[in-house]
Amino acid sequence: MTAPDCLFCKIIQGQIPCIRIFEDDATLVFMDIMPQSDGHMLVVPKQHGANIWDIDQPSAMAIMTVGQRLSLVAKNALQAAGVSLMQLNGAAAGQTVFHVHLHIIPRWAGSDLRMHAREQADRIKLVAIAEKIKAGL
Ligand code: 5GP
Ligand code: ZN
Repeated sequence: MTAPDCLFCKIIQGQIPCIRIFEDDATLVFMDIMPQSDGHMLVVPKQHGANIWDIDQPSAMAIMTVGQRLSLVAKNALQAAGVSLMQLNGAAAGQTVFHVHLHIIPRWAGSDLRMHAREQADRIKLVAIAEKIKAGL
């Protein structure tokens, strides 16, 4: 179910802190610490798998079902114009954390995405955005 030395398994187990948005039996949703836009969240299955082919179908369905709901919550809460859902498999595709996850990235017209996994955001700002999203759940 979990893998040793996996960053996201440690976050799921509470061994490493995160700014938590939502949790159910199969998934955890938390703020990305190096967001590409305001409100960038990650949906992770509790079942460890390096990529989308390494988890079972219920876990794959769970991350998309939760992503469908949370992307709308974020869109409404942050008054975004759109939302990008992104899911990277393999280093060649740009994946940097090898526990599968779905990115939820709110979008506004004319604002470009920040670089992927590059710059850590201010924690106070992340918490403020997280509170807005959670209020819309
Ligand atoms: P990937 O490149 O694997 O698709 O995405 C990994 C994501 O995890 C990146 O967007 C990166 O900013 C984020 N990330 C990396 N380390 C941490 C961390 O310790 N905590 C959180 N919340 N996000 C992280
Ligand atoms: Zn893991």
